[in-house]
Amino acid sequence: MIDAHKTSLLEQQCGEKGLRLTEQRRVIARVLEQSDDHPDVEELHARTAAIDANISVSTVYRTMRLFEEQGIIARHDFRDGRSRYETVPDEHHDHLIDVKNGHVIEFRNERIEQLQELIAEELGYRLVDHRLELYAVPMKKPNRSDLE
Ligand SMILES: [Zn+2]
Repeated sequence: MIDAHKTSLLEQQCGEKGLRLTEQRRVIARVLEQSDDHPDVEELHARTAAIDANISVSTVYRTMRLFEEQGIIARHDFRDGRSRYETVPDEHHDHLIDVKNGHVIEFRNERIEQLQELIAEELGYRLVDHRLELYAVPMKKPNRSDLE
């Protein structure tokens, strides 16, 4: 359930960057902030239009571009030809994409985090950022008869 009146962290971040938000952009910011499924522009538009029918797809698109340029949201390409968005999380996480149904699962693994730093270090670098996407299919659950 989208609460269009809740104060948004994105709005705050825009304020800090001197970016003034129109009412439509405010709605878009709140909708993205309350979405945890990495929506694309079409999905964001459907959710924002439910609150304000005057919000167009191109307004959503331009707003995402603007937020991305300001570094306050992250855009992902999970190989399905759609750009997907999320707010920049407090703590870094990586993504596993279920290629069968497109579901995106967030995870964080300390061993992977450390290993990546080590690899960069061995190549003479200090790691400042990384992206990791795992593309996977669900494992077959064993049949009852196999267990007996
Ligand atoms: Zn994520």
